[in-house]
Amino acid sequence: MPQPLVIGLMGGMSWESSAEYYRIINQTVRDRLGGLRSARCLMWSFDFGEVEALQHAGRWEDAAALLADVARRLERGGADFFLICTNTMHRVAEEVQAAVQIPLLHIADATAARVKTQGIRRVGLLGTAFTMEQDFYKGRLRRSGLEVLVPDAEDRAAVHRVIYHELVQGRVEPASRDAYRAVIARLAGRGAEAVILGCTEIMLLIGPDDSPVPIFDTTRIHAEAAVERALSGHRHAG
Ligand code: GLU
Repeated sequence: MPQPLVIGLMGGMSWESSAEYYRIINQTVRDRLGGLRSARCLMWSFDFGEVEALQHAGRWEDAAALLADVARRLERGGADFFLICTNTMHRVAEEVQAAVQIPLLHIADATAARVKTQGIRRVGLLGTAFTMEQDFYKGRLRRSGLEVLVPDAEDRAAVHRVIYHELVQGRVEPASRDAYRAVIARLAGRGAEAVILGCTEIMLLIGPDDSPVPIFDTTRIHAEAAVERALSGHRHAG
């Protein structure tokens, strides 16, 4: 039986979304290969408390070292390529990639590729404040040819608060869904042709029915891209 490549997953950021990655990856392999087939994967799951403390203290070099150490563990464990299962921690993607030979499947690249297959050019972006405000993610989307709109400061604060105070703690609140719907509607009103759920827990709160424009769920897109890569037999893109 020809075996797909081994997918390395850097999870626990938070485990609420890592569980979704694991489910989608295995379900997609079953859909593609049938019957009893499932994914060959390794997951490291961080203590998110440790990661979050470094994020909010702005200690990105320490966070990079933490993730680089785990990239080496995944490589030693036999992963053929790996994913960082969060948008925010792609803030340190370059440093983490530099620590290993196996390639990183970057979440923004997978997302931009999917958006562009739909002929969409101007997107709204929801995520943590780090993702919406810093350049590591928006810049990568822009370099791939997309125009990126982010919510205004008040909406960004609300979106960020819901992620850290509710979603990563497993709380899905109807009032927060309404708040996100309003933020999405304002982005669409400003001309966003679609909205990227650029945080891997937002899919727990928001679905296609909550938006007047198409939504792109980075968790699903990233997980499906991992399966596609594993089944292609090629560690690198293209
Ligand atoms: N999972 C989230 C993301 O995709 C937020 C948690 C984190 O900061 O890693 O950005």
